[in-house]
Amino acid sequence: MQESKCIVCEKTITNPICLNCLNKEVNVWLEEKGCNIGLTSKDAEPSPNNCILCSSNMDICPHCHVKDLSQTIKKEYPKLAEEFSEMFRY
Ligand SMILES: [Zn+2]
Ligand SMILES: [Zn+2]
Repeated sequence: MQESKCIVCEKTITNPICLNCLNKEVNVWLEEKGCNIGLTSKDAEPSPNNCILCSSNMDICPHCHVKDLSQTIKKEYPKLAEEFSEMFRY
């Protein structure tokens, strides 16, 4: 039996929300701020984890993905970086 582990940090995924659902949330938030970095969706490798929102496969935990996103936000919109990490705590 496969375990539900993140392929990046190898921790068990306890809050399964896929990249696409997270990106959607972040896009909405950015739009409210009048910003847009056009986060694109990406297919995950087949994995035993399913997103609680859209039930797609997911292999990276929300924590790792948000960390990734915050790097992008820091580059594009340094002013929003702090607020971003307040908003999206996974
Ligand atoms: Zn992870
Ligand atoms: Zn999803």
